[in-house]
Order: sequence, then C-alpha cells, then structure tokens
Amino acid sequence: MKNMELNNKKQVLIVGGGFGGVKCALTLSKDPNFKITLISKSNNLTYYPLQYQRATSLGRVNSLIPLDELFHNKNVKIISEEVLSIDKVKQTIQTASKKEYSYDFIVFSLGTVTNDFHIPGVKEYAFDIKNNQSIKKFKEHIHEQVAKNHHLDQNYFVIGAGPTGLELAGNLTSLVKEISKNHGVKQSHINLTIIEANPRLLANLPIDSSRIISRRLKKLKIKIKLKSKLEMITDHSIIVNQKEYPSTSVLWAAGSKNNPFFENNNFTITSRGKISVDAYLQTDRNIFVIGDNANTPYSGMAQTAIHDGEFVAKNLIRLINRKELKSYKVKKTISVIPIGHKWAAMIWGELRIYGYLGWLIRGIADLIGFHYLENWKQISKQYIYRNEFDEDCPVCKIAEDANLLN
Ligand SMILES: Cc1cc2nc3c(=O)[nH]c(=O)nc-3n(C[C@H](O)[C@H](O)[C@H](O)COP(=O)(O)OP(=O)(O)OC[C@H]3O[C@@H](n4cnc5c(N)ncnc54)[C@H](O)[C@@H]3O)c2cc1C
Repeated sequence: MKNMELNNKKQVLIVGGGFGGVKCALTLSKDPNFKITLISKSNNLTYYPLQYQRATSLGRVNSLIPLDELFHNKNVKIISEEVLSIDKVKQTIQTASKKEYSYDFIVFSLGTVTNDFHIPGVKEYAFDIKNNQSIKKFKEHIHEQVAKNHHLDQNYFVIGAGPTGLELAGNLTSLVKEISKNHGVKQSHINLTIIEANPRLLANLPIDSSRIISRRLKKLKIKIKLKSKLEMITDHSIIVNQKEYPSTSVLWAAGSKNNPFFENNNFTITSRGKISVDAYLQTDRNIFVIGDNANTPYSGMAQTAIHDGEFVAKNLIRLINRKELKSYKVKKTISVIPIGHKWAAMIWGELRIYGYLGWLIRGIADLIGFHYLENWKQISKQYIYRNEFDEDCPVCKIAEDANLLN
C-alpha cells in the first residue's frame, strides 16, 4: 500500500457485480474523489440466498436485482462485459470484446463457478441451482412431465447436503405436488433423496445441528444417503455407489470452485483454492481480491463478501484522505437454513435456534441482506415482487390466482 500514488480522482475498476463488488462500489460512490466503473458479466446481481425459492416456488421470487436499479443516481458507471485478463504492469484489463480499461485501483469480486468434479453427465443432465437458465429448465421439465406425460418422475435427487442442497430439498416436494395438483395429475407420493459423499450432512457446521436437521428432513419424508458417491448421470438415471436409480430429475447443489480468471492470470492460489491476500485484501500493488475469491476464514458467504467490499472501499477512502489504513478483521457469519414450510435452523457460534423462530429470523436476515445493498424504497419493491405471481404455465397461473382469492 505504501507505493500508491496520491493524485485526485482516482480511477477505480470493480470487476464483478455480485455482493462484494456492489457493496464496494456503493460505499466508494459516497466519496467524490473516485471515478468508479463497475464491470460485470451480468446486468443483475443474483441474490443467491433466495435462489432455492426461485427454483422451488411457483410464484415469482425475485433473486435478480438489476445493477441499474442499485446504482440509480449514483456516481458509478456500469459496463456489461466479461473481463479476461489483466496487465499488472500497465495497470489495464482486457475484456472478451477486446476492449481495454485502465485503473489506479482494481477490486475483483468474481464469485465462484459450478464444479462438476468431472462426473460424467452432470453438465448435460443435472439442473444447476446456481444457474438461472437451468432453474427455468427444471420448472419446464416438471411441467412437461405433468402436462404432456400426465405422470411424474418417481425419484427426485438433490446432490449435495450443504445448506443449498438442504434448502432446496426442503421445498421441492411441495413444488412438485402443487404443479401436479394444478394439472389434475394424481400422484400422492414421490421419492426425494439427498445424495452426500461425506459421512454426515452439513459437514462444515456443528454435529448437533446436523442431527437435528436430519430429524427434520426425515419428518418431511426426505431420504438422506450419506457416504454415497455419485458416479454418473445419464438421460434416464443416476448411478450412486455402483447402483442405478431411474430418474430424469436431478438437482446439482454439490460444489463450486474459484473463478478460473485467477488461474489464467497468475494469481497465487492457496491449498483451499482461494486467492492469497494480505492484511488489506491486496494481492499485488493496487489489486484487491474480495468475497468468495479471497482466502479469508469465512469466504464463501454473502455476508463476508459484503463485509470485504465495504472494508476495501473504506480503506481506499482513508488512503485518498491520507489517513491510516486499517487491517482486515474477520466477521463471524451466521447460518440460517430454512427446511420446508416455516422451519429453519439458525447457527451462530454456540447459539442455536430451530423451528418457527428460526424461520422468522431467516426472513429478517434476508431483509437485512437487502438493506446492505438497497434503500428501504427499493427493498419494499423487492418484497412486493416476492409475492407477485409470474409463472409461465397458464394452468398453474389460473390455479394459483384461484388459491389467492380463496
Ligand atoms: C444457491 C446459493 C445459496 C446461497 N445462500 C447463501 C446464504 O443464505 N447466506 C450467505 O451468506 N451466502 C449464501 N451463498 C453464498 C453467497 O451467494 C456468495 O458467498 C456471494 O454471492 C459471494 O459474493 P461475490 O461478490 O464474491 O460473488 P458473486 O455474488 O457470485 O458475484 C460475482 C459477479 O462477478 C461476475 N463475473 C464473474 N466472472 C466475471 C468476469 N470474468 N468478468 C466480469 N464479471 C464477472 C458475475 O457475473 C457476478 O455478477 C449462497 C450461494 C449459492 C450459490
């Protein structure tokens, strides 16, 4: 940090319009000394904590927040581009459309990409919870079964017993039942199984929570297969521990890996697969890496990405104002995992809350999450949209409208 030049109106490039990048840009935009450009592949911020609802709810759940809306009237230029490379000496980046942008400071918050662990068939046949197109296809797939075949798959599989897989599984049965009811298909029972390679679910969380959540899943008649290795997915089945199960409905929630940009651009990668950063989240002179990309203890959570984005922005403001820089302090994260209707597990250090109260806390946590990024007017719009019905299927739409009237 000592070598940084101190001219006025510094050009800051922020790459990645997710939690970390957006928070960093919003915080910096309060200081007129910066010329801020946010470059992102997508025009929207994906609010991943709501992604399981988007995948399993009939109504529209707005997990996409347009960047234009977040930066309305803000001193931030938004560019929709994929960044491919960086020239650390010239202080420039190059994009997929062969444009070049220069920077005084650059912040990377590129998030992760889905990891299929090279398991045959995952890319082709599994529905990926992280990918919005794939979620749309999954819903179309269920509709096709009921509308065209008048019959549902007997077996549904969620691969991965981390928080995402469990949230997804908790809501899946009700989605399938609702669609079949709307289409007059009588199928009282479906088998939903979670496949997990580890000997317990939620391997990164305390063991007592794993036990209680296991009981909750069993109550919802969701099967859990632990120590089970997915070997292949075909167009009609999955193979687990050398046994084949018929299914065309497999949801992938098993893994992600760091963005390949860093490997392609000679950043130092730790054994955790994260990017090595110093006490200022800096990797090289004037280059910062935050959020899911950075090797910090709680990397991999939206809460951490927001914390990191704000931390780097505030340090840049201190730097420009010739104030002493602060070193990074970790912020302990809180896990609130909803499983089925009106039930969630909250785990925060030694504190645990399960059940309806946990579910209420999850609602508050989402509200706080939105508030880190948006003002209250924008948030209330989000909440109204959450309840707006926006299903493509006309049969479901009529049925759901009738439900609302009853
Ligand atoms: C399904 C799911 C549920 C989750 N639930 C929770 C939860 O409940 N609580 C929680 O705290 N965390 C949760 N997380 C984790 C959380 O979403 C991430 O930790 C968070 O999104 C990380 O923020 P980020 O800024 O590092 O990356 P992201 O939010 O992923 O943003 C990365 C951005 O960079 C863009 N980008 C990528 N590559 C390029 C490139 N080369 N050029 C330009 N732009 C690029 C992407 O388009 C994207 O806009 C969940 C994650 C998933 C997948």
